[in-house]
Amino acid sequence: MLEEKVVIITGGTRGIGLETVKLFKENKAEVILFGSREETVKSAVESLKEEGMKVEGYFPNLNSISEIEKVIKEIYDKYGHIDILVNNAGISANKKIEDTSSDDFSKIIDLNVNAVFNMTKAVVPYMKKNGGGVVLNTSSMVSIYGQPSGVGYPASKFAVNGLTKSLARELAPFNIRVNAVAPGITNTDMVANLPKEMIEPLIKTIPLGRIGEPRDIANAFLFLASDMASYITGVVLSVDGAARS
Ligand code: NAD
Repeated sequence: MLEEKVVIITGGTRGIGLETVKLFKENKAEVILFGSREETVKSAVESLKEEGMKVEGYFPNLNSISEIEKVIKEIYDKYGHIDILVNNAGISANKKIEDTSSDDFSKIIDLNVNAVFNMTKAVVPYMKKNGGGVVLNTSSMVSIYGQPSGVGYPASKFAVNGLTKSLARELAPFNIRVNAVAPGITNTDMVANLPKEMIEPLIKTIPLGRIGEPRDIANAFLFLASDMASYITGVVLSVDGAARS
């Protein structure tokens, strides 16, 4: 479904991002993964190689527009085009407001919102130059309902939806589609790090009766990245087993 497409996936070293890297490779894309640290990027690239998948890895600081622009130019010069960007890197939060410092709040916004802006800003000129592209963002179920603690996280995902819907309108004349996937509770380290008392009651409320798997989310990204979604832009697609909806 993605033959000859050049794809950049942030947060591609584990969880939803890594599964998306694998699915996109299975669908013949050229994939470049971004991670936060050299060691984790190296080990993800190595383990993909052992599975027979050739993937390049970078670890720019996603809050430094100059570092990002340098890496994106390097990728463009090497491949000649950048077709798909998946903004997937993200962190969550679960503290009450009294226990959340303004630094905690800023840290979430820096990665979940500002990095999405920076990456998109750096890639769009190349997509325009080549006549189009696809930007995919990772939102969350909490961007629709909020959550009862860790306010920075849902606030960041509401902002991701805003970026998605607005940039879809701004970039449509350039044949660049912008969509988001809003996962429900998904089986990754992010959820493993949250208290059991918070997660288990939530899983019980999911109408489809199970937690989401990273492949469930990757499948949605694949559809939205592909030409099968050529008339879809500005959408936030819930992939959450109908949780609370
Ligand atoms: P994860 O913790 O398994 O992976 C997070 C990824 O982000 C990693 O690859 C990590 O390298 C990267 N990352 C973290 N901090 C970074 C930084 N400072 N700079 C660059 N990269 C950094 O989490 P996941 O569950 O796979 O989450 C992926 C995305 O899905 C996130 O945006 C998250 O908000 C969203 N999401 C997850 C769930 C869930 O239940 N797991 C639900 C809704 C949305």
